[in-house]
Amino acid sequence: MKIIIVGAGVSGLSTYLQLRKVLPAFESHTILVYESQKPREPVPSGTSNPSLSKLADLTDSTTVVGNSIGLAPNSVRLLKYIDPRLYEIFKARGYVSQTYTFKTARGHTLAVTSTGDKRSPEEYTISCPRYGLWKCLHEVVGEDKIKYRKVVDVDLSGAKPVVKFADGGEEDADLVVGADGVRSVVKKAIFGEENERKYAPRYEGFCGVGAFVDVEIPEAITKQKSMVFTFGPTGSFGYCCAAPLPQRKLGWWSNWGTPNVPDRNVVDTEEIRKQLQERHGTWKDPVIQNIIEKMTTDRVYPIWTTPNLPHWGETGAVLLGDAAHTLQATSGQGAGQALEDSVTFSLLLSHYVTKAETSGSDFTVEEGIKLSAKGLYEIRNPRFATIRARARNLYVTNKRVNNIIVEYMFYCFIYLWTNFPIIGKLVVGNVFKEFDEWNAEEQVKEYLENKDH
Ligand SMILES: Cc1cc2nc3c(=O)[nH]c(=O)nc-3n(C[C@H](O)[C@H](O)[C@H](O)COP(=O)(O)OP(=O)(O)OC[C@H]3O[C@@H](n4cnc5c(N)ncnc54)[C@H](O)[C@@H]3O)c2cc1C
Repeated sequence: MKIIIVGAGVSGLSTYLQLRKVLPAFESHTILVYESQKPREPVPSGTSNPSLSKLADLTDSTTVVGNSIGLAPNSVRLLKYIDPRLYEIFKARGYVSQTYTFKTARGHTLAVTSTGDKRSPEEYTISCPRYGLWKCLHEVVGEDKIKYRKVVDVDLSGAKPVVKFADGGEEDADLVVGADGVRSVVKKAIFGEENERKYAPRYEGFCGVGAFVDVEIPEAITKQKSMVFTFGPTGSFGYCCAAPLPQRKLGWWSNWGTPNVPDRNVVDTEEIRKQLQERHGTWKDPVIQNIIEKMTTDRVYPIWTTPNLPHWGETGAVLLGDAAHTLQATSGQGAGQALEDSVTFSLLLSHYVTKAETSGSDFTVEEGIKLSAKGLYEIRNPRFATIRARARNLYVTNKRVNNIIVEYMFYCFIYLWTNFPIIGKLVVGNVFKEFDEWNAEEQVKEYLENKDH
């Protein structure tokens, strides 16, 4: 079997690693990974590459949008499951954030809650640069396995899918894995140009900005190993430690509601500072004021999500991660859901390929690919829909509030939600159960037993 993975991000490379682990006779298959962006450190302020300033480039690559991410315990466990080396490297390079601190713009601390999953050994949220996770995956997969060629189209009309490259080359395969992010070329091929608008990513009415500053990590973080989220009448502001303490990598982000997609994603640092001062300049936390003073970044990112797709692939192609279901960057689950997709799909594919290769079976690899894509969607789509809906419930935390009574009601709401689990469950669902008890292996086993094939 020949598989072409389009995109060497979280879903593409974790799929490569998981297939290497579970696909029978892995060496007898050809698995090629194509990536359009050459590795580089995130573009620092003042050195913007104008070719990356188009809106379409805004979120389509981890190399372009820097910022920090927090991998929740369910995602951290999956790293270990996929490849223990991945887990070790990631944990050593990130910062284990054992608690979330919730604060108000007026300086009150509303709650400090554990990020731990209460399992043994307990895992906690790990924060790191978004680019750092990408780098760990590249290292474990091996740079020699990734080919830097941009895919411009996939032709699914023939007997086999044909991948077309920007350099004019073409290559066929038995399966094309669309792990090419929010503006997926593979998605376009699956649904056709006529549906491009219908299934295009939607702007959620919010934007974010964020980067890193090189300062001593503040006590607000080190005291309780915390990620700090502050809410106020003009949006939200967060900060975390994104690397081991001596590296002084303080990650920060600011989210705000705005009805229109900004017309530029590359903005002058001083303009961003002005906007941050306008939104957060009166907020009481001195750490926020220090970040605003020292920060340099030139990139804002609108928050996109994918509308519900009717499937994630049928014959010869499948979509994984952000290509199938971009979640709000504010959901804190995008990378985790990409990892879950990779594991689920790889387990299904290896089951069906084994079946097809069992002598005497008239079941073909093509049928196996089709059933794997179908199974992935049936197992994973309801979960994605729940997570996206919950993240939308939390939009309230980024809305502009113009009245002090409403502002205090809003703080009360956050206080109740973060301090009283029953109220929390009403607002955001049973997050613990939803995230930490979800097990890809069990889900696939149960699915296959019920399907009887
Ligand atoms: C600012 C921000 C903060 C976030 N914070 C969090 C967080 O705290 N926790 C969390 O879990 N998630 C977070 N996310 C989401 C998370 O980063 C994504 O969900 C995750 O990266 C999705 O992985 P992916 O592999 O599907 O897509 P991507 O990471 O986007 O990877 C797609 C890859 O495909 C490549 N590619 C695209 N088009 C082509 C083409 N035509 N040819 C070849 N290659 C191509 C791209 O260059 C890229 O390397 C955040 C996202 C953003 C933008």
